[in-house]
Amino acid sequence: MQQQRLLKVLVIGDLGVGKTSIIKRYVHQIFSQHYRATIGVDFALKILNWDHKTVVRLQLWDIAGQERYGNMTRVYYREAVGALVVFDMTRASTFQAVLKWKRDLDSKAVLKWKGDLDSKVALGNGRPIPAVLLGNKCDQLSTGLCSKLPKLENFTRDHGFVGWYETSAKDNTNIDAAIMCLVESIMAVE
Ligand code: GDP
Ligand code: MG
Repeated sequence: MQQQRLLKVLVIGDLGVGKTSIIKRYVHQIFSQHYRATIGVDFALKILNWDHKTVVRLQLWDIAGQERYGNMTRVYYREAVGALVVFDMTRASTFQAVLKWKRDLDSKAVLKWKGDLDSKVALGNGRPIPAVLLGNKCDQLSTGLCSKLPKLENFTRDHGFVGWYETSAKDNTNIDAAIMCLVESIMAVE
């Protein structure tokens, strides 16, 4: 019998890094220069035939407005099982903000431990949910710039991301790969 899994995934990062564009590209295969800033919270749904017995209903949660505060309410984080943390490769300040977003995520979204009460206590808050780092707008980088990027491999490992990708919502580069990487780690958690 087929089972369905509903996965709530958060898309976070500073204003203008391309969160809405990434979601539109992934779910609707479109790109536009002119998305209005999202008002409040919005989500898009993508159905994945994960394997012969599992259908994944992937909910991508967009935010807007709240970006300027650098953190989000607990309601937004509730029941989330994974996150895409996005920065804009052409704006260093958005990369610096990544750690702030990751810390906020780790403090508010933890996996519910499914073991008994004792192990729950032993684990304290539980484990952080899987997060993938996306350096978006890579289409705007001239090749020379790439070598100046920080060593993202180390950064990714040191700060507990499950992976990182250079993406372009405009050219459709690595969007699928980044989201697949996240969904795979979410499904592996079980
Ligand atoms: P958000 O505030 O994080 O949701 O960012 P948006 O998705 O609204 O994107 C902000 C601006 O960046 C828009 O003008 C987009 O068209 C543009 N943008 C988003 N992704 C890309 C990308 O991969 N490449 C380029 N060149 N522009 C992008
Ligand atoms: Mg947006």
